[in-house]
Amino acid sequence: MSGVRYTEAVSDSFLHVLPRSSKACPSAGKQNDAVDYLRDRFSFVRCETHAHPVFVDAGLSFESVACPLCGAALDIGWWGERMDIAAAADFEELGVVTPCCEGESLLDALRYLEEQGFARCVITVTNPGRELGPAEVRELQRLLGTQVRVVRQHM
Ligand SMILES: [Zn+2]
Repeated sequence: MSGVRYTEAVSDSFLHVLPRSSKACPSAGKQNDAVDYLRDRFSFVRCETHAHPVFVDAGLSFESVACPLCGAALDIGWWGERMDIAAAADFEELGVVTPCCEGESLLDALRYLEEQGFARCVITVTNPGRELGPAEVRELQRLLGTQVRVVRQHM
């Protein structure tokens, strides 16, 4: 997925805030608190929940994936096959055995060039215009009662 990002000037960008655990889904009250917190800071904020985890990818930024155990670059074809298998099971099982060192890992623990992951609850800021600061991420973790991952997505 290389190439000139010639559409960037007119395309939307997104910040997704999701629980670090693919199975976690904070209560509706906690979701609302986190959404309110973000709405005080950004114009376009929404929250979606899903019966099963969804893959929250980094869009055009996604270019490589590496083993978290030994650091070897993983074949994108291998990764795509594992994703297909996991998708067929609604992303409820993310376990993989890496081909490089035959270690047990998870699809959401692999080292992606840009942060991405799987979640049942996704809070999205459209065209944020800036990054979230560390204090804001900490506050979101407090409000949601869980560790979070922030995925930056460029369409
Ligand atoms: Zn490895």
